[in-house]
Amino acid sequence: MAAPAHAAQAATGQAQTYGNYIGGEWRPAASGETFEDRSPANTDDLVGRFASSAKEDVEAAVAAAAEAADGWRRTSAVARANILHKAAEILASRQEQVGRELTREEGKTLKEGIGETGRAVQILRYFAGEAQQPSGEHYPSMNPLTLLYTVREPLGVVGVITPWNFPIAIPAWKIAPALAFGNTVVFKPASLTPLCAVRLVEALAEAGLPPGVLNLVTGSAGAVGDPLVRDPRIAGVTFTGSNAVGADLRKIAAETGTKLQLELGGKNPAIVLADADLDHALTHVVSGAMMSTGQKCTATSRAIVDRSIAAAFTERLVEKVKALKVGDPLQAETQIGPVISEDSAERIAGEVDAAREAGANLLAGGDRPSENGHGRGHFVAPTLFGDVDPASKLGQEELFGPVLGVIPVDGMDEALAVANTVRFGLSASLFTRDLGKALTFAREIQAGVVHVNSETPGAEPHVPFGGMKGSSSYSREQGKAARDFFTQTKTVYIDPPPA
Ligand code: ADP
Repeated sequence: MAAPAHAAQAATGQAQTYGNYIGGEWRPAASGETFEDRSPANTDDLVGRFASSAKEDVEAAVAAAAEAADGWRRTSAVARANILHKAAEILASRQEQVGRELTREEGKTLKEGIGETGRAVQILRYFAGEAQQPSGEHYPSMNPLTLLYTVREPLGVVGVITPWNFPIAIPAWKIAPALAFGNTVVFKPASLTPLCAVRLVEALAEAGLPPGVLNLVTGSAGAVGDPLVRDPRIAGVTFTGSNAVGADLRKIAAETGTKLQLELGGKNPAIVLADADLDHALTHVVSGAMMSTGQKCTATSRAIVDRSIAAAFTERLVEKVKALKVGDPLQAETQIGPVISEDSAERIAGEVDAAREAGANLLAGGDRPSENGHGRGHFVAPTLFGDVDPASKLGQEELFGPVLGVIPVDGMDEALAVANTVRFGLSASLFTRDLGKALTFAREIQAGVVHVNSETPGAEPHVPFGGMKGSSSYSREQGKAARDFFTQTKTVYIDPPPA
């Protein structure tokens, strides 16, 4: 590629300006306005300026996607797969650079940033393969001469709305299947992580996607997200984000009739039984709760521990949590970076204070360290509470930060009852050596992703992912399940003409 794909990019001091990608062109917002993207580890670090778009930009993007829809629908699945393969190789060649940018923009550690970029590559490869898998079924008919079969057809134009916590993997796991199965896309990333979105779109554009097949519009939720989900040309919306926004989208989709997929929050339990390998359980509970600064929808936020081992287990948890190294996520020794924003840090600190006032037993953390020495990062100390009341706010509501509560219980039955008495059901873990209990857990736990002897966030990209109860819209993402959302079924009867 001779010129950078983002033609709207221009040097402005240290930081560059990035445009929207609409109809195969990088261009500024119609208003010409931009917004700033700053590193959560150091707000002096300006990552870039991005198009501050509005309704007219969304309309242009949807129009481009609608115009491209027939051409892309009629493109062979093999040709679509080839483009996804090529995009995977382009992104793979930039994994280190994009991973570093991800860390700078989102704040997770460098290892996690590079790892997540690798995961996006893997997802693109997977859906390149999946595009070529059998689609639809052949049925016997009451009439022996009838050819009766189903085909999966694309929805048309799909809106992809993504959060900041997995700023390249989540867009990849929505966009790759949308494109693989023949949809065109308007992509609105979180305003806190637009650079990762640009990098993913660049890879796909450079791989040869025809103009209009994938369109990127950056900007705020109200100015971009809202007109996007209300646009009558949008056939489906896939959203990962907060419960509050998910609830709003349900109402809008009920009015517009848009097909909707939601991945929302969790209050994920890790049950530790008395017979568990405690070293192993400790490692996985701490990692499940604290990696990515606790900002995974699948993060462990409740350690439900058998009372006979609760005191000893908690004592060791305190040591481990206090030993975590908080700091600049670009430094190799850092284990915990900042949270995403000052708003988020203040909200988490407020919830921690409220929990203390309500009587929760603070055992570690609870404060706001200024780890980069100048107080310009949104740091929250890894925080542990003991003896958490399962009915309390801390025991029920998602904090989306590095905060873990220990809930002592008497045995497996109570552990399951506590684990299930929340409105969410995304992921859950059990630590035990007892096969019977493992099987009971797998059967009884109300969660879409279930682990025995591994942490709650583990999720491989080629299998279905999603939650039960309030955690999702019952649909599943990734793996073969992705085809269900991004296609619709047509049933075809073909009879021979009368002889
Ligand atoms: P998070 O803070 O985890 O990113 P949000 O639910 O606030 O979760 O945002 C997820 C994505 O949804 C972001 O891209 C955001 O801009 C977008 N969004 C937020 N509110 C709306 C809305 N009312 N309509 C459409 N998109 C929205």
